[in-house]
Amino acid sequence: MNPYTVDFRSDTVTKPSKEMLDAMFSASVGDDVYGEDPTVNELQDYAAQLFGKEAALFCASGTQTNQIAINIHVKPGGEVICHEESHVYKYEGGGIAKNSGASVRLLQGNRGRLTAAEIEKWIMPDDVHFPVTQLISLEDTANRGGGAVYDFGDIEAIAQLARSKNIPLHLDGARIFNALEVNGVEIKKYASQFNSISICLSKGLGAPVGSLLVGNKDFIHQAKRVRKVMGGGMRQAGFLAAAGLYALKNNVSRLAEDHERAKQLESAFLACSWIESSLPVETNILVVILKEETKRDSYIQKLGELGVKVSAFGPGMIRLVTHLDISPEDVRFTIEQLKKV
Ligand SMILES: *Cc1c(COP(=O)(O)O)cnc(C)c1O
Repeated sequence: MNPYTVDFRSDTVTKPSKEMLDAMFSASVGDDVYGEDPTVNELQDYAAQLFGKEAALFCASGTQTNQIAINIHVKPGGEVICHEESHVYKYEGGGIAKNSGASVRLLQGNRGRLTAAEIEKWIMPDDVHFPVTQLISLEDTANRGGGAVYDFGDIEAIAQLARSKNIPLHLDGARIFNALEVNGVEIKKYASQFNSISICLSKGLGAPVGSLLVGNKDFIHQAKRVRKVMGGGMRQAGFLAAAGLYALKNNVSRLAEDHERAKQLESAFLACSWIESSLPVETNILVVILKEETKRDSYIQKLGELGVKVSAFGPGMIRLVTHLDISPEDVRFTIEQLKKV
């Protein structure tokens, strides 16, 4: 085992910096179930303003914010249209069925992204045989698409379709700031396309815990009740909200560095004889495709022994994610280690 290790398994592995910890320790707190935590309230107001929405709610995780949103938008027996590899379907423990009793229409799409034309085909007509389409859920960036970013024109077309059919549009924006860094769209303009947005503070933004749900006042009022039912009412949560506030104020503009580092790693991997290709890097996720599909796990083990922690992505594919705790030195170290594989 190499004593020096770099962890590319996910952008969730970041640890709070000294400055973030200072902000947490000095937070003013109160009982948030009573609505009396000043730091939680400050974070929620800050996020609502940032996204140009009426209100926001601080929650424990991105799974919780997505599941709360789906629970509000959809009735039992209704249907959610989403990508077949979307987080809301694939990585939330069957929550759409378990929490909301809804069915799903799973669509294929280029690197995790859907188009208005494809969605339109699956919005069910009013016929007793069919489930009622009650929600369209998008993901940007698309995790299983290797951090792919939507073209904003495609989002506008989907939003227009959703409005014309009176179907709410939800965004799983776990990595929304990575998407905005690339598409360059003004944040309020982007957010105005969606009825509800889930935002992770604990991914690239580096907070230890927490996600936000943003939407209109009535939606967030309902969300508070659903969060409570799901056991997510937290008391002196201001200590955690302080980390989220610090993250939103200090760690957004630096995401471009993560994207740059992912591109540097991509070039280095593509120069290796054992790599076939990659899903072209768009943000902070690099997916490389091996020449020998069956040797994936031995490559992951070998890289681990050299001090480079990576994860399996699918058959013959390895994923690396850059984040706040990956320095230029870590990238240089990784590129050196690659030569020994
Ligand atoms: C990480 C992530 C979430 C939230 O996951 P948690 O484990 O609940 O924090 C939601 N959607 C996407 C696309 C994610 O990558």
